[in-house]
Amino acid sequence: ILAVIAFIFSGIAFSLSRIMSKRAMVPIKQAFARQQEFVADASHELRTPLSVMLSSIELLEMEEQTEQDKEMAVKTIHNLKEEVKRMTGLVSNLLTLARSDSAQQNVTMEAFDLYQVAKQTIHTFEAHAHTKNITLQLKSPNPLQIIGNIELLTQLLYILIDNAIKYSEYKGTVTLAISKEGNQLLLTVTDNGVGIEEKHIPHLFKRFYRVDKARTRQEGGYGLGLSIAKWIVDTHNGTINVQSKLHEGSTFIVNLPQK
Ligand code: ADP
Repeated sequence: ILAVIAFIFSGIAFSLSRIMSKRAMVPIKQAFARQQEFVADASHELRTPLSVMLSSIELLEMEEQTEQDKEMAVKTIHNLKEEVKRMTGLVSNLLTLARSDSAQQNVTMEAFDLYQVAKQTIHTFEAHAHTKNITLQLKSPNPLQIIGNIELLTQLLYILIDNAIKYSEYKGTVTLAISKEGNQLLLTVTDNGVGIEEKHIPHLFKRFYRVDKARTRQEGGYGLGLSIAKWIVDTHNGTINVQSKLHEGSTFIVNLPQK
């Protein structure tokens, strides 16, 4: 009888361990699948503009140099330059995301004045905003001493302000507001631009997600900015949310704990 019981138990233990190890494999398999999808999407995003660029270069090579051809060539070179700029941005975003995926990410936190960083960031975007007749506003105490990673938080401001301008119509206002209440830092970026339909909101922070593919492609987006923003906020143990109304505008709300 004992032998039978031992046999049954060992059978149960064997099946259990198989089930457990299968279960343990699930998150690893999912992570692997996500990684494969990411590499496939990234390759696609790089291959399409590269083939367009190659055709343009081949056309330039063929061209006989009449005056009209020269004009065309100048235009083509300008377009090629813009495409190279966009791809450079894409590659640097991909590198940031690869860094976010690596297990040994070492993000150092330091004390700094967020007001100075915000002021400088607004200043950087001023000329670009001006071309769309958009006013940039900064609402912040001066100084605003916080703890965080200065490079990553600067990148976060860049992403949110860049989007706010990108998805605004001609003549709008973009407001960056920052404040500290108790041990919470609140950072909001508000625009009165195109807005976002509710059904898209749960997907916005996913890699390569774009609401309007045609429009954002024309504006130069690859759908990576907000996923990087989310990673930056996560590394600061914070939260990021969005409130938006179609055709009225959006507010991105970031909360970062401060001890
Ligand atoms: P992209 O490079 O396409 O801008 P993001 O990850 O930064 O990628 O944003 C994902 C999508 O979220 C965008 O394609 C756009 O549709 C939407 N979005 C982001 N910010 C705004 C905003 N301020 N107003 C309206 N839509 C926005």
